[in-house]
Amino acid sequence: MSKSLQAIRGMNDILPEQTPLWRYFEGTVARLLDNYGYRQIRMPIVEFTELFKRSIGEVTDIVEKEMYTFDDRNGDSLTLRPEGTAACVRAVLEHGITGGGQVQKLWYIGPMFRHERPQKGRYRQFHQIGLEVFNLEGPDIDAELIVMTWRLWGELGLRDAVKLELNSLGTSESRGRYREALVEFLSGHVDKLDEDSQRRLKTNPLRVLDTKNPETQAILVDAPKMADYLDDESRAHFEGLKARLDAVGIPYVINPKLVRGLDYYSKTVFEWVTDKLGAQGTVCAGGRYDGLVEQMGGKPTPGVGFAMGIERLVLMLEALDKVPEELARQVDVYLCAFGEAAELAALALSERVRDQLPSLRLQINAGGGSFKSQFKKADKSGALYALILGDDELAQQVVGFKPLRGQGEQQSIAWDALAAHLATCVVQG
Ligand code: ATP
Ligand code: MG
Repeated sequence: MSKSLQAIRGMNDILPEQTPLWRYFEGTVARLLDNYGYRQIRMPIVEFTELFKRSIGEVTDIVEKEMYTFDDRNGDSLTLRPEGTAACVRAVLEHGITGGGQVQKLWYIGPMFRHERPQKGRYRQFHQIGLEVFNLEGPDIDAELIVMTWRLWGELGLRDAVKLELNSLGTSESRGRYREALVEFLSGHVDKLDEDSQRRLKTNPLRVLDTKNPETQAILVDAPKMADYLDDESRAHFEGLKARLDAVGIPYVINPKLVRGLDYYSKTVFEWVTDKLGAQGTVCAGGRYDGLVEQMGGKPTPGVGFAMGIERLVLMLEALDKVPEELARQVDVYLCAFGEAAELAALALSERVRDQLPSLRLQINAGGGSFKSQFKKADKSGALYALILGDDELAQQVVGFKPLRGQGEQQSIAWDALAAHLATCVVQG
C-alpha cells in the first residue's frame, strides 16, 4: 500500500477481535462510576491552544513538545486535546455548573493526542477514562477516587499486579518553599545533572525529581524532602487520606519523588503502577488541583481527579490472561437454513424468537451454502448451539437444535417451543 493510505504512526485501529475486550473494560468502568454517583460529561476533541497552555503549564513536556497544534481556516490556533482535565474545567466554567459551591462528580472517556515516541503502551492517539470532582476539598473524596479504582482492579482481577504510590505536594506556598530549597541544593550539583535536569532546574525544578537518569537519581538521594516542607493543613489532609485507605485495607507506598508531569497539582498526587508492561508502568494517575479553576479564570474551586490509560489496561488484561472467556463468543446461537423456503421460514422464526427474547444473541446464516460450510461458520462464530432448518424440519414445523461444544445430542424442537427452550440454555439476565 502506498504510504499516504496508511494510518498515522502511533494512531491505531482497534480491530473487531479487540473491541470486545475494550467494551468489557469500558463497560465495567462505566457501571462502577454510575454506581458511585458520577455522571458522564462529553467535551470536544479540539480546543483553543491557549486552554492547554494556561492549564497544563507552558514548561511541561506536553505543552513544550507533545501537542498537535494547528491553525484552522480562520487563523485560530487549535489543539487536539492531550488530556481531559483542561477541557472539563473549561466546560464547567462555561456552563456555570460549579458556581456557588455546587459539587460536580464527572467522568469522561475518549481519545487524547500527544506527539510522543510510539512504543508498547505509548501512542500518539490513546484513550483515557478520567474523572473530575469539583467543590469538595477534604481527603474523603481523594480516598473515594482511590477506593473506586481499587474496586475496579478487583473486578478486573488486577489487584495483585498494581501498586499504589502516593505523595503530597502541599499547597502552592509550601511547594514554593520546597522548590527554593531544592533549587539551592541542586544548584550545588549542576555539573553532575543530566542535560534535561539542568534545563528543568531553570524552568520546572520539581520535575527534576522525576528523572530517569541514574547519576541524577544518585544526587537526589541527599536532596531536601518535600515531606519536611509540608504545611500543617496539607499534612493533616494527607493523614486523613491515609487513614481512609487503611480503613479499607488498601496498600500503598509513599513516593516522595512523585510529582506528576502537569503543573496544576496540589496536595494529593497518586499513581497506580505495574511492572507487567515494561517501561510504560503507570496505568492510572491523578491528584488534587485546588488552584486550577482560579488559574483558568473561575472562582477558587477545589478539584481532584484522575485518568487511566485504556490501552495500558487492555494490554495488562491480555498479559495476565484476565480476558473473560465468553468475550470470544460473538453469538450464542447460529441459525442454518437450507433452500429458499427454509430461509424464509428461518427469518420469520428468528424474528419471532427475538421478540420473545430481546437479549438473545442469535446470528442467522447469510449467503446460503452447503451443510458443511454453514456448520463451519456456526463453529467459527463461537456459538454454543446451531439451529438447523431444512426441508424436513420445515414440513414438520420444527428446528434441529445441535450443541456445538459437546453438551449432548441433537434434538428437534417445535417452532412454538423454541424461545422457551433457548431461554433455559442461553439467555441470562
Ligand atoms: P507517562 O508518565 O506514562 O508519560 P503521564 O504522566 O504523561 O504518563 P497522564 O497525563 O497522567 O500521563 O495520563 C494518565 C494516564 O494516561 C497515564 O497514566 C497512562 O496510563 C495514560 N497515558 C498517558 N500518555 C499515554 C500515551 N502516550 N499512550 C498511552 N497511554 C498514555
Ligand atoms: Mg507522559
